[in-house]
Amino acid sequence: MLRTLALLLSCALAPLPAAVLHCGKLIDVEKLTVLEEVSIVTSGDEILRVEPGFAAPAAGEEAIDLRSHTCMPGWMDMHVHLASESNPKAYEERFRLNAADYAFRAAVHAKRTLLAGFTTVRDLGTRDGVSIALARAIEQGLTEGPTIYNAGRALATTGGHADPTNGVRDDLMHDPGPAEGVVNGVDDARKAVRQRYKEGSDLIKITATGGVLSVAKNGQNPQFTEEEIRAIVETAKDYDFHVAAHAHGAEGIRRALRAGVHSIEHGTLMDDEGIRLFQETAAWWVPTISAGKFVAEKAEVQGYYPAVIIPKALAIGPQVQETFRKAYKAGVKIAFGTDCGVSPHGSNAKEFVYMTEAGMPPLEAIRAATLSPAQLLGIADRVGTVAPGKAADIVATPRDPAEDITATLQPSFVMKRGRVYRRP
Ligand SMILES: [Zn+2]
Repeated sequence: MLRTLALLLSCALAPLPAAVLHCGKLIDVEKLTVLEEVSIVTSGDEILRVEPGFAAPAAGEEAIDLRSHTCMPGWMDMHVHLASESNPKAYEERFRLNAADYAFRAAVHAKRTLLAGFTTVRDLGTRDGVSIALARAIEQGLTEGPTIYNAGRALATTGGHADPTNGVRDDLMHDPGPAEGVVNGVDDARKAVRQRYKEGSDLIKITATGGVLSVAKNGQNPQFTEEEIRAIVETAKDYDFHVAAHAHGAEGIRRALRAGVHSIEHGTLMDDEGIRLFQETAAWWVPTISAGKFVAEKAEVQGYYPAVIIPKALAIGPQVQETFRKAYKAGVKIAFGTDCGVSPHGSNAKEFVYMTEAGMPPLEAIRAATLSPAQLLGIADRVGTVAPGKAADIVATPRDPAEDITATLQPSFVMKRGRVYRRP
């Protein structure tokens, strides 16, 4: 048993060869330009050099032919839930499946996400530590997937969007507390942040307003006081955590921004005051248009969602793309995020198409999924651009996405930390 494990580990962590990638085009996400005929030289898990022309490989270097492809930094999705994926039975499965069942699914979702070109993700809500264990397993080379930054359990107030007992019968509906992610008042709020630290989270997720997919009536009402959010933000700082706030309604968005959260997720009904607060606080917006489109579509399918969800999905889902058009024009800082898990894992790149439909030029959409998330996560010194010393996280598409954004739907090459997972 131990020998098998040792063998497995040694395979998984075999030394990486050096490589020379011959890229027909390379997207510079800082200058928003497309360079032609560039070589990227990688060594181990890092980018060593980027040089014009197609450099001949040195001894021991593997040449990878991407001369008819467009290269760019690996994509980053700032809002996924790797442990689950929407299906008509998802609500009853919660009563039948164990954490281990979700863990096996999570591993499949993670691999699909990586092969779709996403080399880093932020997981904004997982129960029983599934995504935290998954991140560790990926890091150790036991299974394949993106680099994961985890929120662990999302925080809600009683009956709020992430209260795990919403919609169940009375004898199962106990009174969960901070350990299960439910807080009321500032003491609970602080305790819940510390509990996430204890469990191995990297950041904090709160549900500042109602949500579409919880078994509860209101999809957008404020569900935290500003004082509670402030207590979470302040405590999070002690642990070097940032706070991501799910919010659909305008009042919840305003409270979260005034309390100092780092990102607003969805932001569907943001008003002019919300936009002004984004500008004032320089917080990030993660729009998740994919989720809005998906729930609105499935709400039309009989039996897909419980009845209480359908009016919420129809009312809220379709609005986010219009909000995007307005907020983008107003200069709100946007980072790419899909909420995959609501929509299928691996379909993340559809968000590129939705963003450009709503007025963002393709190169800016690519920047929103590379440099911007790296800045959001505070890791821009390590990822988000193709440059010497950066992690060798590189994606290529068969056509130039600056000319046709749908090229992102089928990446032809995926390298993460110097290891190739997909080749043309
Ligand atoms: Zn989500």
